[in-house]
Amino acid sequence: MKVLKFGGTSVGTVESLRNVKAIVEQCSEPVIVVVSALGGLTDKLIATAKCSIDGTDAYMAEYLAMIDRHHHIITHMVAPEKQPDLRKRVDVILEELGNIYKGLSLIRDLSPRSLDIIVSYGERLSSTIIAEIIEGAKLFDSRSFIKTLRQFDKHVLDTDATLKLIDEHFGSRDWKVAIVPGFISTDANGYVTNLGRGGSDYTAAILAAALDAHTLEIWTDVDGFMTADPRIIADAYVIDKMSFVEAMELCNFGAKVIYPPTIYPVFHKNIPIYIKNTFNPEAPGTCISEYRHPEVDNVIKGVSSINDTSLITVSGKCMAGQSGVNAQILNTMTRQGVDVLLLSQSSSENSTAFAIRGADAERALNALNQEFLPELQTGELNPIEIEMDMATVAIVGENLMHTMTVIDRLFDALGHNGIYVMACAQGTSETNISVVIPMNDCKKTLRVIHDTFFTRV
Ligand code: ADP
Ligand code: ASP
Ligand code: MG
Repeated sequence: MKVLKFGGTSVGTVESLRNVKAIVEQCSEPVIVVVSALGGLTDKLIATAKCSIDGTDAYMAEYLAMIDRHHHIITHMVAPEKQPDLRKRVDVILEELGNIYKGLSLIRDLSPRSLDIIVSYGERLSSTIIAEIIEGAKLFDSRSFIKTLRQFDKHVLDTDATLKLIDEHFGSRDWKVAIVPGFISTDANGYVTNLGRGGSDYTAAILAAALDAHTLEIWTDVDGFMTADPRIIADAYVIDKMSFVEAMELCNFGAKVIYPPTIYPVFHKNIPIYIKNTFNPEAPGTCISEYRHPEVDNVIKGVSSINDTSLITVSGKCMAGQSGVNAQILNTMTRQGVDVLLLSQSSSENSTAFAIRGADAERALNALNQEFLPELQTGELNPIEIEMDMATVAIVGENLMHTMTVIDRLFDALGHNGIYVMACAQGTSETNISVVIPMNDCKKTLRVIHDTFFTRV
């Protein structure tokens, strides 16, 4: 059994859905097919919700366009005899969504819980339709088996509850093609939640690991995992093989092709991931596995970036020689649910700099000022500094640990191109080196690094 996941890029149009149908119907073994909302729909659902609370009926045009888009796909992709019944079922879902928008426009208030319900309609609609497009498919509802818990201000997977429910729903194997909406889930009280933007990849990995699939295939709109984001670096090329650790590092540092939490469940079970192109199924794609690198391999596998990071520096005389300040910083960030992208400490131990996402900056700074109030008041700590509008760029490769010259080449190239590095850290797994640079230099930095390390032979 294998799990296939088709992203919004693959289920956005009639043409792309024809490819999806052909790819799935060619499979001779049982498959679970996880689908995203129609391409761009999740963004539209959110934008329309925001528009609906402005008190006018301007949201109606967007809502009507969503109805048309789903009807268009039914008309062109579903067998005529199945259309009336499917249209009825889809219209019930669309009407519910319309009522929610209407309600929002009356109360003019949009809570996070309401938004979670609204975004769930994308995958509910796409999966309902795709289950009728694919021959012999059975529709499942992820809200009844993907469960989340609240951790800080995020929904995180409730692994125990989810594994038990997946077994109950899929264990009998009375399906040959199971269609599953990605991204959506519920909490212990039955409220609709989700796994975060891009989360359909994660739904697919959770199912693959829970049901011991032999393979997870992520079908998208590029030929594989590439040396850099192809939208930024036009000559980026496909990496044919990479290790789980390399994929995890590149995704954590912004490679959008896989949602970062996806890799862990399949890595844990040693289930390979293939990245494949729905629009070019013949291309071999990328295989992510426990692959061990021959020494001759490229030292660097890829480069990725997170735009809009902020760099916080905590410094002062109370830090030198005193244990626990870094722990206190990190605990404060954890309590706020803020991810620390990299951390670097001066050797004199009197300053620590760390990078976080720009969106978390204000919360992080307020929390640190609160946490260290006594030390800031006595002057033992200097005022906490924050640099906004930075970017974090990471180079990743398992062979980095064997190659001493990489850092030299990296800094040489950046220096020669006038790129000022504000902070630098080497990941503990020694498979990545990351630098914090001004956001305006992000594209240039990616370009310089790509030219330095990825000249094709
Ligand atoms: P889907 O809708 O299939 O989930 P996404 O838009 O989430 O698709 O991810 C695919 C996109 O990720 C590609 O179109 C590409 O622009 C982008 N991307 C960013 N970094 C990389 C990379 N290193 N390799 C391949 N694609 C990348
Ligand atoms: N539809 C969701 C999103 O756009 C989930 C996904 O596509 O993976 O974020
Ligand atoms: Mg995606």
